[in-house]
Order: sequence, then C-alpha cells, then structure tokens
Amino acid sequence: MLGSLARWLRFAGFDTFFDPKRDDAPLAALARSEGRWLLTRDRRLAAKAGPRVLLLSGATVAQQVAELCSRLALTVEEARFFTRCSACNGEVVAVGREEVLPLVPPYVAAHAPHFSRCRSCGKVYWPGTHEPRIRRTLHQLFGLAPPP
Ligand SMILES: [Zn+2]
Repeated sequence: MLGSLARWLRFAGFDTFFDPKRDDAPLAALARSEGRWLLTRDRRLAAKAGPRVLLLSGATVAQQVAELCSRLALTVEEARFFTRCSACNGEVVAVGREEVLPLVPPYVAAHAPHFSRCRSCGKVYWPGTHEPRIRRTLHQLFGLAPPP
C-alpha cells in the first residue's frame, strides 16, 4: 500500500523496510524488535502495532511525506540522497569503474562519470538522466531549497 512512499524514502537515504508480502503480526513484531516506526494506512494494523506507529491518511506520496514531516523530526540531508538501494534498502557505496564494467550497458560504461553499488543485492547505480528529476522531486517533497 505504501510501496511508492518506501521507494522515495529510500531515495532520500532513510533506512526503510518494506515487504508487502509480510503479514501484519510479524511486521508489527519486526518494527518493535528493530525500534522502527511502522507506517501504515491500515487502521487494523496500526491498532496491533506498538507505540511507534504512524497511521497515514494521505493518498499521494507528497501528502504522505507531509504527514511524516509534521509528525516526526526527520533529518533530511542531500548528502544522504541515493545512499540506500531503492530496490532492497541495502547500503549503496561507491565502487570503481572496473568492478561494474561487465554489468552495465556499453554506452553507460563509456560515459557515466562514476558508479555505486548496493551491498545487499548488487544493483549498480550511476548518475543517469533520471537523477536530476529524482533529486528535484526529493527537494520538493521534503521542502528543501531547490537544487542548483
Ligand atoms: Zn539492493
């Protein structure tokens, strides 16, 4: 239900667990044991969860982020953007060109200025045409000054 929000929180660098296949009880237990905030639009799940639960009502990511920011003291830093894998939440670290050359299309291998890679799933990232758009959207979502 909140998959899109999870992806945008990961783009912003927040440690964001998301598993739509996980049942309510194990999800609430995991949030409690890891001290995570549980974000949900499901009243039944919210009632079962511990004290760190936020019942969101917004239908769009922008509304959901606004709710989050009004209720939690989130520290949003541009330096943390793109430090989490949008696919699996793993930590994304800078890697050398030679490590990823066999894994990316030839044009990207020849032209991308630098690369990073997820430590969990191995997904390779590089600054592509979509990055400025994602960065601008993150600035809008979290109310930061527009990027230069
Ligand atoms: Zn990953």
